[in-house]
Amino acid sequence: MSYRLIQGGLTFKFAAAHFVLGDTGCERLHGHNYLVEVQVFGEQDEDKNLVIDFLELKPFVRNFVEELDHRILLPNENPHLPITKKGEEYLVEFLPKKKKYVFPVADVCLLPIKNTTVEEFARLLTIKMKPLFSKYPNIDSIDVGVFEYKGQGCWKKITREDLS
Ligand SMILES: [Zn+2]
Repeated sequence: MSYRLIQGGLTFKFAAAHFVLGDTGCERLHGHNYLVEVQVFGEQDEDKNLVIDFLELKPFVRNFVEELDHRILLPNENPHLPITKKGEEYLVEFLPKKKKYVFPVADVCLLPIKNTTVEEFARLLTIKMKPLFSKYPNIDSIDVGVFEYKGQGCWKKITREDLS
């Protein structure tokens, strides 16, 4: 018998600023109170009678959320958005529109992605979930949902097969 265990229930939150880059445009800098939810699918462990211990799952979500909370989120892998560190500041240039920002380094979270979309945030969090699969052989898959607000967001699934 298979189980679905839910962690978060939209209670994990982070507030952050970002802008999404399009082919020719760049959104104005703005913020969201993001919501994060995690669902774990698997069999019930016969010894402990659970799919996964909530106490072990929570830190994976909390660490990710704390890394992004109250930051300006910047994509560090977009060729149209070179980011240069000068002392304690980042100079950020959106080349197609000759737009520039300067942010304090301490206020920024540089992410290994091309665009700061909920799809990419969800993908990053699924990658951080990978250690749980080796610790819990009964887990089949984990779904991660990241929402800009309730009703607008993205779910990303990672399965045991994705690890190889
Ligand atoms: Zn936005």
